[in-house]
Amino acid sequence: MRVLIVEDDKLLGDGLTRYLQQAGYVVDVSTSGTEADTLLGQEDYDLVILDIGLPGLDGFEVLRRMRRRKRYVPVLVLTARDTLEDRVRGLDLGADDYLVKPFALLELEARIRAVTRRGQTVNGTPLTYGALILDTGARRAWLEQKPLKLTAREWGVLEFLILRVGKMVNKDQIVAAVSQWDDEISHNAVEVYISRLRSKLEPAGIRIHAVRGFGYYLDKQGESTG
Ligand code: CA
Repeated sequence: MRVLIVEDDKLLGDGLTRYLQQAGYVVDVSTSGTEADTLLGQEDYDLVILDIGLPGLDGFEVLRRMRRRKRYVPVLVLTARDTLEDRVRGLDLGADDYLVKPFALLELEARIRAVTRRGQTVNGTPLTYGALILDTGARRAWLEQKPLKLTAREWGVLEFLILRVGKMVNKDQIVAAVSQWDDEISHNAVEVYISRLRSKLEPAGIRIHAVRGFGYYLDKQGESTG
């Protein structure tokens, strides 16, 4: 899962980044509202953690511009200004949840799970594909009822494919989904992740199809009917 943290307090931004990276998220950080707005217009994120008091555009303006774009992205607002007025204004603009600084990192992670689960799983149930179960909130996977170990990037590629069953995705889209913007992975790396995923999934009858020169897809046969 790809997260954009928008926070001008460097200490807090660095702390959040380290914590979320260890938890397996792909993290980009921006320290200004203007830069965040540009990134949000160019990149695809699964979640935005947004401070309100920012240089350039403030968090409210970043949020307003995000909601004018078509694509829905869950937003978790961080604010030191814990007045009722600020909260109401943020929710009116389409924030999904709030955290008032200072907050515990475990609390943050719980809120992240809650807001992303709303967006990514159907009725709060894990994603299933054939013998595979992905709990995107808890970031755990099972294959044939056994826990499946995946690296953060393998997870990112697999989640991206499963959320688009039946649709072709190309390598550029996969790169965008699993890279951090200062650390872009190559097409060769995508091939490596796909090949590792295949060796983990094929014994259970799950095939990642490739179409030469186009990309990859999971066919609809593995989709759960229940
Ligand atoms: Ca701030």
